[in-house]
Amino acid sequence: MLQVDKLRKTFPVGGGKVKAVDGISFQVPDGNFFTLLGPSGCGKTTTLRCVAGLERPEAGDVTIGDKKVCCTEKKQYTPTHKRDIGMVFQSYAIWPHMSVFDNVAFPLTVDKMGFSRGQIKERVLHALARVKLDGLANRPAPQLSGGQQQRLALARALVKEPRVLLMDEPLSNLDARLREQMRVELGQLVRELNITSLYVTHDQVEALSMSHVIAVMDEGQIAQIGTPAQIYSQPSTKFVADFMGSTNLFEGKALTDAAPDTLGKVETVLGNWHCTLPEGIRKGETVMFCMRPENFTTYRENPGLESNVLEGKVELATYLGEVYDCTMAVGERTIRVRIHHSFAPKPEEKLFLWLPPQNCSVIKLQ
Ligand code: ATP
Repeated sequence: MLQVDKLRKTFPVGGGKVKAVDGISFQVPDGNFFTLLGPSGCGKTTTLRCVAGLERPEAGDVTIGDKKVCCTEKKQYTPTHKRDIGMVFQSYAIWPHMSVFDNVAFPLTVDKMGFSRGQIKERVLHALARVKLDGLANRPAPQLSGGQQQRLALARALVKEPRVLLMDEPLSNLDARLREQMRVELGQLVRELNITSLYVTHDQVEALSMSHVIAVMDEGQIAQIGTPAQIYSQPSTKFVADFMGSTNLFEGKALTDAAPDTLGKVETVLGNWHCTLPEGIRKGETVMFCMRPENFTTYRENPGLESNVLEGKVELATYLGEVYDCTMAVGERTIRVRIHHSFAPKPEEKLFLWLPPQNCSVIKLQ
């Protein structure tokens, strides 16, 4: 288990201070993959560096397993090399003058850890096998492909068999194609390894596809913590909804109180919608109503449904292969809609759009 409690870190900038991390707390249970996701400058890397012992926070605690490695109140900070962690960074920091074996062995040979040559060999070969690089131990590191270098960096992070693996944007230096391939591969590897992981990224797809739990960060604070499905389908703030992809957001008014297992109703400028209301919403309250572009069902004839139907005109339809990305005029407003390629929407065409109640999300305003 990794536990971060009320962590705070500020940096002096000019005459003032920037709150890089502003009192955040989270837990990563053993074997879980936890991602800090957010735009540039929101404090992800600083959080990870505090966990690693590369920054000293002003407030808060960090616990790895049963060991408190940072306790600001008592001013106790375990140095990085004594924390039970492995790290993979953006630039893999692979040493080009060394073989694959020597790169992985390096962390065992520094810090006078007292391993015999036999033990080092055994550990290195085991780490290489875990990332499926066995057989390449003697190859010069620069002769590996981009993906293999990434796995080498992972083997080096794992060779001390750390309790927690920290990864800071490990895919961001790869070109788009390799990045996608490595995302799948790294996700699969880390799942197989079953190691407690803290991952930092600004890429929603990476976070959604790899994580057990995501914390979306905004200006040094956690805006929402949840499973990928919760973060994507039930954003709890406008910031999270916006950040998680193109969403149609409209202000609305609740026409009912929220009630468990019962659909509520929201009024917007585009009409009234049946939808699930988040707990605590009261009739008359102002809310944000979100419609994801991919959640509409499209018809050429009026489907004759009782509610949740819009009538719109296609303004722009951009072919993206699997789908058309469309801009549609609905009354005075414009919305984004993704339509399956087989439907082949045409500009100027009139269409009916149905948004099922379970696919509408409603955000309680703070
Ligand atoms: P990115 O994805 O761009 O790396 P991030 O979410 O990881 O961003 P941080 O690098 O943690 O964000 O930075 C958070 C804030 O703290 C930013 O405003 C940044 O400019 C500031 N900051 C980070 N490190 C320092 C430093 N050493 N000195 C001054 N300000 C810093």
